[in-house]
Amino acid sequence: MSSKIVNILSNANFESKKTASALQDELKKHGYKPFNGFNKNAELCVCIGGDGSFIKAVHRNNFPEMPFVGINTGHLGFYQEIKPNEIVKFVTDYKNNNYEVQDIKILRTDIYTKNKVYKLNAINEVVLKAAHSKTIHMNVFIDRNHVEKFSGDGILVSTPSGSTAYNFSTGGSIVYPTLHVLQMTPISPVSSSAYRSIRSSLIVPGGHTISLVIEKRYKDSNLLLVDGNEYFFNNLHRVNTRLSNKTIKKLIFSNNSYWDNIKDKFL
Ligand code: NAD
Repeated sequence: MSSKIVNILSNANFESKKTASALQDELKKHGYKPFNGFNKNAELCVCIGGDGSFIKAVHRNNFPEMPFVGINTGHLGFYQEIKPNEIVKFVTDYKNNNYEVQDIKILRTDIYTKNKVYKLNAINEVVLKAAHSKTIHMNVFIDRNHVEKFSGDGILVSTPSGSTAYNFSTGGSIVYPTLHVLQMTPISPVSSSAYRSIRSSLIVPGGHTISLVIEKRYKDSNLLLVDGNEYFFNNLHRVNTRLSNKTIKKLIFSNNSYWDNIKDKFL
């Protein structure tokens, strides 16, 4: 049975707070119990803000099982589908089960250091770079097959949903969110007679593991970006990334909004 509890996770913008208050009133009218913050027994998380608010909400609450829906008060949102003036329709549609559930694929990254393996999840991307803006050299394996020796700014591995974020800015392709694939995109690859790196992005089956093995001299001077958050590891040897078995569930109210977003954001 549904708990009727609906989490409201809002950023601190005036527009977001106003929207949160209007949403609370509307939910109460329909017999729901709005909760400001994260309640693990909630049946839904409504995230108010831009894409960044959605990403933070998922990370802070440890990639929860319950579905998400986003109300966009920021710049154009890829994860935030509902507009603030659509709250009444949204609550009615939700109550009448007038929506679909989309699985947002996430990355599972295992970070191998000398003494410990760290595990991180990402919604958009994982990027391995050298610290202090140096060129990084690493060997790239896909499912244990050696693919290249890479030299350049770094390598970005993105989810299908993340393909329109940093990946797109680095020249990667847009991948429809339901496809079960990973994308590996080089950032400023060096291509000279001394170093040859693949210049285009690679689309890799979701079940395969992309393994980045950095040269020893970067073991203590690397930077790992996970959805925009920075991590530094000592004694780093290898970063393995694949699609996780886990997903984030997102409610979809209009099938066309993805292509509308692409057109509005990039054209
Ligand atoms: P932020 O809120 O400043 O977000 C940066 C921009 O990325 C925003 O315009 C946001 O709408 C957009 N964005 C985020 N996810 C998106 C997606 N899946 N599709 C299309 N656009 C998307 O910064 P943040 O909150 O820390 O967000 C982190 C994200 O910022 C990272 O995951 C990364 O993808 C992105 N980023 C982009 C660049 C770049 O384009 N050069 C550089 C660094 C980080």
